[in-house]
Amino acid sequence: MPTLSIKLPLFEPTKTKEEMYETMRSRFSLACNKVLELKKDNPKLKKSEIDRLLSEIELPSTLHQEARKLALSRYQDWKKNKKTKGFPSFKEKISILFNNQNWQLRFDNGYLKVGIPTVEEGNLTMDKYVPVKVNAYSLFWVNYYLTGEMDKESKYFQSAFEEISKAKKGSAQLYYKKEHWYFSFSLSFELKEKNKAEKSIGVDRGLRLVAVAGNPETGKYITFNGKQMGHIRRKFSRLRHKLQKAKNTKALKQLEDKEQRINKYWNHVISKRMVEFALECGASMIKIEDLSGIRSMKKFWKRSDRNVNSWAFYDLESKLTYKAMLAELSVQKVNPYKTSQECSKCHTIKKSNRRKDVYKCSSCGHKENADINASFNIASRPSIVNEDNPAA
Ligand SMILES: [Zn+2]
Repeated sequence: MPTLSIKLPLFEPTKTKEEMYETMRSRFSLACNKVLELKKDNPKLKKSEIDRLLSEIELPSTLHQEARKLALSRYQDWKKNKKTKGFPSFKEKISILFNNQNWQLRFDNGYLKVGIPTVEEGNLTMDKYVPVKVNAYSLFWVNYYLTGEMDKESKYFQSAFEEISKAKKGSAQLYYKKEHWYFSFSLSFELKEKNKAEKSIGVDRGLRLVAVAGNPETGKYITFNGKQMGHIRRKFSRLRHKLQKAKNTKALKQLEDKEQRINKYWNHVISKRMVEFALECGASMIKIEDLSGIRSMKKFWKRSDRNVNSWAFYDLESKLTYKAMLAELSVQKVNPYKTSQECSKCHTIKKSNRRKDVYKCSSCGHKENADINASFNIASRPSIVNEDNPAA
């Protein structure tokens, strides 16, 4: 998380205030040194016991705790380097520390004011807040911290700041340096989710090309030429018909096992490459058609081949899902309605635009390989939200 530190000089503090801060600073230093002495005498002394002994020093209890934390860390540091370092001690004029919950900033009567726990009587009311000086730079960040609105007209604004979603206040300190009292504090920033989360590639699964993955934003795609597999599939298909006719179930089983092994291998290769492609595109989502409806399966295969091929289809889907998960990508399903008849440029849907391998749009003139065009459409469609698709 990025952080920055803002330094604000106190604005004309009264003599009374200054003396009060000096008293507070001396006591804070005293508390720190007391913790060190206590630990020196009894290294096993518990935190609760330290706090009880510190309460004798007149300070807000939150400053007892800050003193204890600061001194204990100095003590631990010394313990590690005992041989080379002398026993630590704190100067009288040190910075007083406040944790993130113990300071406030407010605008009041045209002044920016700081509220911190002090040794003044009574509760911390607005009249005990102390005014601070702001310059244009600190005002830019203070305004953002207080309102959540960033001034884009300011000369301190940078486009990189658009990535910031929230400012959170951190610890602060009050100190005296070169004749002036200062209050400084840190802000840390939460960043917006990266745009990456919205990018996706689409995967079209078909027969002629085994699969196509496309990124419509860049126009890039990868294809898996199905020629070789088409040949194998036809061969298997012919053999299967023969064996089915002859009712040779044993040979049929062997054939299907062999075909399954080949399909598994290819699906492994294809899914691996698609995940690589998604990462190259800076995408976080891989979209595929939701083919759970039996009707949409008909567009791919003849009835007799359907079972074996649909098995390969879902095998590709599961391999893709698994490999995507390892790469921290998600696989999302989209409505498969006429993905091959839609123009990926102007989104007109027209059946006659698709002629075999080519999609040519009669509305905008866009011309593309039909499967690549379909993969772009798949990438652009919204994810279907259901229980299997929790990220959608
Ligand atoms: Zn078009």
